[in-house]
Amino acid sequence: MARYVYEFADGGREMAGLLGGKGANLAEMTRLGLPVPPGFTVTTEACRAYLASGTVPDGLDDEVAEHLRALEERMGRRLGRPEDPLLVSVRSGGRFSMPGMMETVLDIGLNDASVLGLARMSGREHFAWDSYRRLIQMFGTTVMGVDGDLFGKALAQHPDPGELPLVVAEFKAVVREATGEDFPQDPADQLRRAIRAVFASWNGERARLYRRREHIPDDLGTAVTVQAMVYGNLGRDSGSGVAFTRDPATGRPGVYGDYLPDAQGEDVVAGVRNALPLQDLEWLDPTAYMELRDYMRILEEHYRDLCDIEFTIERRKLWMLQTRVGKRTAEAAFRVAAQLADDGTLTENEALGRVDGRQLAQLMFPRFDDTAAGPPLARGIPASPGAAVGAVVFDSAEAVRRAAAGEKAVLVRRETTPDDLPGMVAAQAVLTSRGGKTSHAAVVARGMGKTCVCGAEAITVDPRARHFTLADGTVVEEGTVVSVDGTAGTVHLGELPLAPSTVMRYFETGECRSELSRAVDRFMRRADALRRMEVRANADTPEDAERARRFGARGIGLCRTEHMFLGERRPLVETMILAENDAERERALAALLPLQRTDFTGILAAMDGLPVTIRLLDPPLHEFLPDRTELAVRIATARALGQHPDPHDVRLLAAVERTHEQNPMLGLRGVRLGLTVPGLTAMQVRAIGEAVAERKRAGGDPRAEIMVPLTAAVRELRIVRAEVEQVLADVSSETGVDINCPIGTMIELPRAALTAGAIAETADFFSFGTNDLTQTTWGFSRDDVEAAFFTTYLDRRIFAASPFESLDEDGVGRLLSLAVTEGRAAHPGLTTGVCGEHGGDPDSLHFFHRAGIDYVSCSPFRVPVARLEAGRAAL
Ligand code: ADP
Ligand code: MG
Ligand code: MG
Repeated sequence: MARYVYEFADGGREMAGLLGGKGANLAEMTRLGLPVPPGFTVTTEACRAYLASGTVPDGLDDEVAEHLRALEERMGRRLGRPEDPLLVSVRSGGRFSMPGMMETVLDIGLNDASVLGLARMSGREHFAWDSYRRLIQMFGTTVMGVDGDLFGKALAQHPDPGELPLVVAEFKAVVREATGEDFPQDPADQLRRAIRAVFASWNGERARLYRRREHIPDDLGTAVTVQAMVYGNLGRDSGSGVAFTRDPATGRPGVYGDYLPDAQGEDVVAGVRNALPLQDLEWLDPTAYMELRDYMRILEEHYRDLCDIEFTIERRKLWMLQTRVGKRTAEAAFRVAAQLADDGTLTENEALGRVDGRQLAQLMFPRFDDTAAGPPLARGIPASPGAAVGAVVFDSAEAVRRAAAGEKAVLVRRETTPDDLPGMVAAQAVLTSRGGKTSHAAVVARGMGKTCVCGAEAITVDPRARHFTLADGTVVEEGTVVSVDGTAGTVHLGELPLAPSTVMRYFETGECRSELSRAVDRFMRRADALRRMEVRANADTPEDAERARRFGARGIGLCRTEHMFLGERRPLVETMILAENDAERERALAALLPLQRTDFTGILAAMDGLPVTIRLLDPPLHEFLPDRTELAVRIATARALGQHPDPHDVRLLAAVERTHEQNPMLGLRGVRLGLTVPGLTAMQVRAIGEAVAERKRAGGDPRAEIMVPLTAAVRELRIVRAEVEQVLADVSSETGVDINCPIGTMIELPRAALTAGAIAETADFFSFGTNDLTQTTWGFSRDDVEAAFFTTYLDRRIFAASPFESLDEDGVGRLLSLAVTEGRAAHPGLTTGVCGEHGGDPDSLHFFHRAGIDYVSCSPFRVPVARLEAGRAAL
């Protein structure tokens, strides 16, 4: 029989898939001998079975009952027994941490009789009644589906603690009225129902939204941990807190966290009351503090990483309620990894595994230059770094509305709850007036890489009036633009100018002026030494080529030639297209030749000694012609005024109509152009050949490669290749310079991938154009579909990320692998590269590494990310 329940003592951190992160780490702490309230965990497998069938698997309830009996035995108390009740929490927790996104029910086991027992046992009547009303409230909303506001109203009418029994009576009435059912008095029934509700919360809206955003699969399910309750709200000698073994914003080791005396853990996380800094515990309860510091050290040494911890002190006794490897900012990730490698905790390679390209990309963003700015409007806690500007809004819906309209918003709340998640996703930044570094707003924002300042106590938020007020009475209305500095923890009125990041400066200049840039430098070097894949850049100007080189690109993987046909050269291109005979066309091409040659000379000089892959003209010709409607209107207007329309316009319109295509992306473009427009390929190749000759005569080392786009059939490539070779031979004999350019093709059509073996015999290299290959494999027009229906496709999980952002391994990736394998079999030593957007995407890069790709090419700014991830892929 399948086993669905594990005691803490029988689990461990390696079982996170089955026990969830929370359950696995509670087990691990138990193993380490830390004081964890005893309990057990129901597996994610049971949850998956429940979600699939709508009922818990056979035997689960019995298994839970058995483990509950063991727990009761251990505690010497019985769940909900009137004299001295055992109470338990029922906690959610999946494989990946989803803070606050699923449900947890505390104080299971209380009822009309056991509340009196709890009062006697604790000697505190208010505490017992408060726990009972919390249970009815939590159970009522999460298990029975009662609207939470109904409880809020009833509570507000009886603020006096002496009235708590009255509140409980009213809560029970609320439950009865809303559901037609009494609040269940049977503790075993409470437990059974709570477990099912936690299972079901996996598919709650908040949880689903969070998973989509974090790319967490939908089919993992949550585990459920049942654990003896401990009480942080038994008076001033009790309390709850959160601790980090290092500062999650900077990585600095030390004591970071919040502590709230006489409170339950959920009050700290919710940021309901402003917590004390954790250091204050040192004088509030020195023994517990020393013990906690000890456990922090043990955990950090054990996990060899920054840990965050939830703890509760019940009458001076410390209990550990949760730990996990903590979420952190991008800056902290780099600094912590470097520090841990420095002190020998991690090897260099392990440390490299702890940072990633997404974080590096964040660090390359600018920050505010507030040297010139006046004093900030308000200061708060720098909870999640970044520089964000936007109009203040006071609820999630407004943030979503503005974002949809293309506006930038800053979400301002007293504190956030999981219901604010859509607004947090939509906003540029989050600002709260209450709560610390571990408040909901802070934790969620850090996880999203979103700028956040929290606990800005000087502002008073009034969401109804849609404004906030400063201490001096200044009112800031909705729509006012502010700048939020998540690194400094400040908010400024208006839009502050931006200062470049030190990491960006490091890439621009090679200077390491901060601990952060030294850490980045260290991991870049490591990644460069490890990686098998080369990184090139997509660049078509000498300036871009130079930048790419500074950022570490080892050549250009895609030099597009179309921009060389625009601007003041347009008339020449028009003449070429309009030409009615060979002589006219040749004149136009001859005029373009020297211009192209100059372009290529500049780029080859900037990338001297490194490969420059030049793609022959790709886009359809009408892209170089004026707009059809505009021309038609111009001609019609002239006629209406009784004038003769410009004959050039008339010819252009005819050409536009001649070249018009219903589906230009699938029309006359790429190699098809070269095969149908006489002289075009020859002119481009001649310009390349002459540029190479010129650079060689100047003592340079030009490494041009000629790339034919959109090949579908080997015969296309053969014809073009023969022409290219002929032109290069001509230039060679005219200039007396030996010109040897590899000639290859893009693989961006399924047919090319499927016939790669044959094509490889004619190609010196393959470069996968994964944008077009994705477009043609899926049959998605990449200019249309993202706006048209990708949101629906993402919602309905047809894919987890847009295939234009993250390579579709199953489909497009399969074509790519096939082409690599069959291409190499036919042509040993064939070079393979990727030059689509995917070349700079971390997930896709790992796939390219596995597929045996030789190099990726991406935009110059993504080059560092690609280098780092190519190194990590080789770990
Ligand atoms: P989340 O995943 O949202 O953090 P938790 O399962 O950690 O949810 O529970 C929420 C809060 O309830 C925690 O902050 C914790 O302090 C408190 N809590 C959970 N179990 C217990 C327990 N057995 N005793 C006391 N407090 C508990
Ligand atoms: Mg928690
Ligand atoms: Mg293409």
